[in-house]
Amino acid sequence: MQVANMGERWAAGDGGSFGLTADQRAILDQADRFGRNELYPLAARMDEEEWWPDDAFPRLAGAGLFGVTIPEEFGGAGLDLLAAGLVLQGLSRWNHAMALSWVAHDNLCANNIFRNGSGAQRRKYLPDMCAGRKIGALGLTEPGAGSDALGSMRTTARREGDDYVLNGAKIFITNGPVADYLLVYARTDPARGAHGISAFIVEKDFPGFKVAQKLKKMGYRGSQTAELVFDECRVPASNLVGEENGGVAIVMSGLDLERAMIAPICLGIAERALELSIDHAVTRRQFGQTIGSFQMVQSMLADMYVAVESMRTFTWRTLAAAAPLEKGGGGRGEIHMLTAASVMYAANAVHDVLDKAMQIHGGSGYIWESEINRLYRSIKLLEIGAGTTEVRKMIIAGELLRGR
Ligand SMILES: Cc1cc2nc3c(=O)[nH]c(=O)nc-3n(C[C@H](O)[C@H](O)[C@H](O)COP(=O)(O)OP(=O)(O)OC[C@H]3O[C@@H](n4cnc5c(N)ncnc54)[C@H](O)[C@@H]3O)c2cc1C
Repeated sequence: MQVANMGERWAAGDGGSFGLTADQRAILDQADRFGRNELYPLAARMDEEEWWPDDAFPRLAGAGLFGVTIPEEFGGAGLDLLAAGLVLQGLSRWNHAMALSWVAHDNLCANNIFRNGSGAQRRKYLPDMCAGRKIGALGLTEPGAGSDALGSMRTTARREGDDYVLNGAKIFITNGPVADYLLVYARTDPARGAHGISAFIVEKDFPGFKVAQKLKKMGYRGSQTAELVFDECRVPASNLVGEENGGVAIVMSGLDLERAMIAPICLGIAERALELSIDHAVTRRQFGQTIGSFQMVQSMLADMYVAVESMRTFTWRTLAAAAPLEKGGGGRGEIHMLTAASVMYAANAVHDVLDKAMQIHGGSGYIWESEINRLYRSIKLLEIGAGTTEVRKMIIAGELLRGR
């Protein structure tokens, strides 16, 4: 099958003053090229065997695709959130499982440590993560604490001398089985509710930390996901991120950035699905002509194009708006609502795009090994992770009605 350079394919569609600068276009093109040449060939095996290619992270780092938002002094590229989103968009076109692992590492873990960590924590942890030598993850969700992650959190951390001692479990943690460094939230003052939560950097070799199980998924199968257990896990007090009991601000601003960053995954997957559907429409023949000559197929392609174009505009605008978010910012107000809206829209839109893409592919799309089937199996997570569609709606309506 001929594989087009999607950077070129889409270059015309983002013009005018709402488009990208030449530098931003170059970032998207670079990620697209790397994704096509280096990550696309891994995607089928990752999906089939839930295989984690150990050398992918060092290679991503070698191409300068880690630490996008981290200053150069810590080994990063010193760019902004929009640039990070463009990298993610480019990678997601070709290997969304690796893109999910990328965002857990580069945004949820590294960017969070950069924004909220001490100078010593930044110096100790960021260079190895930017170099792809160490893998990062973020542990917030628990078996009994999903949408109500803060209110229902049961993992605790008690201070003992120079350590904190963590007890509890985290579930559905992206990169969990392979992570070296984990940003973990735990309750330090149970009486204070959401204002009694703190963030810690946990290293995989800390005593009492264990990967309880690797979880088998319907999509993003090469991206490794785990349940983690903390059993009297000793974490040096120097690994407390920010203030004790100050975790809520880190979580809330981190979640706004995460929502802004999930939208580019939706966009990249939708772009690829449209590309595959166009290719299929002009090659598959029925009734003596290509199926693309039938108006009902054309109608689906047109709807998909409109969805992709509107996702692109909303996604980039939201990334640009979230880029200057100050430390501890977000969690309420315009940016809280906008980031929830962006990911909600993009997740709904990619669902619709993949539904039509699958329809255009007919029976061949129903076959597990086909690329469009792999893309189709990716869409539900985008409506669940980083706050479900319902949580996104609660955020939006809550902000619209605040004080009214
Ligand atoms: C593949 C994968 C990777 C993930 N990666 C990570 C990760 O790296 N780190 C991490 O911390 N977490 C991660 N998560 C967890 C993810 O963020 C949660 O799954 C998500 O927040 C939803 O929580 P839940 O699954 O417990 O669903 P629940 O909260 O149990 O929700 C179940 C249903 O109830 C609805 N619901 C809940 N409360 C309300 C309400 N008040 N009003 C209306 N409806 C409501 C929900 O919208 C949903 O439809 C991952 C999840 C998956 C599946």
